[in-house]
Amino acid sequence: MDKPLPLATPTSQPFWEGLRAGEVRLQRCAECDRWIFYPRSNCTGCLSNDLVWSTVSGLGQIHAFTISRIPTAAFFADEVPQKLAVIELDEGVRLTTTLVDIEEDAIEIGMRVEPVFEATEGGEGVLLRYRPTA
Ligand SMILES: [Zn+2]
Repeated sequence: MDKPLPLATPTSQPFWEGLRAGEVRLQRCAECDRWIFYPRSNCTGCLSNDLVWSTVSGLGQIHAFTISRIPTAAFFADEVPQKLAVIELDEGVRLTTTLVDIEEDAIEIGMRVEPVFEATEGGEGVLLRYRPTA
């Protein structure tokens, strides 16, 4: 079963292009310096539309996680148990991802993590996963 893939929009295109280049790119507001994720057209703080893309380290920590023993969708049946997590990047924004390269018993809130750029099965895209820092 083919897994659903994210569809880039004109607003999110730089984020997906960054992943294909092995980089995490976030928007930052030129008016108030706030970091923004997910990609959007206006600042979440001051509503300015003067948002600038920047490459960041992608480093952060586990803010929350859960182990799903029932697939969240039929497409993901081969990934059970799914190690789902919310990562807080060092810039302060949070994103939802899947943890890799870690046993479920070792996952801890606050654990430092780094990005993993995972090519999709068909090779046409790259997804952002996370693993503990080396
Ligand atoms: Zn702003």
